[in-house]
Amino acid sequence: MSNTQPPNLYHEDRQDRLIRELVHDPYHSKKKMTEPTQCPDCQAIYHEGRWRWGAAPADAERELCPACQRVRDHCPAGFLTLSGEFLAGHKDEILHLIRHVEQREKAEHALRRLMAFEEQADGSVLATFTDPQLARAAGEAVYRAYRGDLDFTYQENEYLLRVAWRR
Ligand SMILES: [Zn+2]
Repeated sequence: MSNTQPPNLYHEDRQDRLIRELVHDPYHSKKKMTEPTQCPDCQAIYHEGRWRWGAAPADAERELCPACQRVRDHCPAGFLTLSGEFLAGHKDEILHLIRHVEQREKAEHALRRLMAFEEQADGSVLATFTDPQLARAAGEAVYRAYRGDLDFTYQENEYLLRVAWRR
């Protein structure tokens, strides 16, 4: 089961609530983690209950953060499919915009990462992310910049958001 919500850029709190209602992210450890813990891949630090950027003391525990674990497992939590004739003529600038959104979001939220751009045989591009909120932010940024059609599909009982943009 999935339910499709129309894009509504002016009710973002509603979108936030929908994402908060997603089930618990299975990549977030339910056991109590030692603080501080540092991720050996990206150097993010688990401190005060969340993963963030910063310097860790030498004696920090070492454990993969949920974002790096998803990268290793090739298990995205967010998908953004880009398609259409307009995309074909503006692909570089659109992908650049998405990278920019990732840089901005990742600075504040250490676990929001772009995983890959996958060019599909039909000319569309699939962008994959470690976090559903980043898939949403990227889709909304492309929609704000270029208009077109934007759709969100939340998967019930999964920590997953699928976004589709077409122009
Ligand atoms: Zn990491």
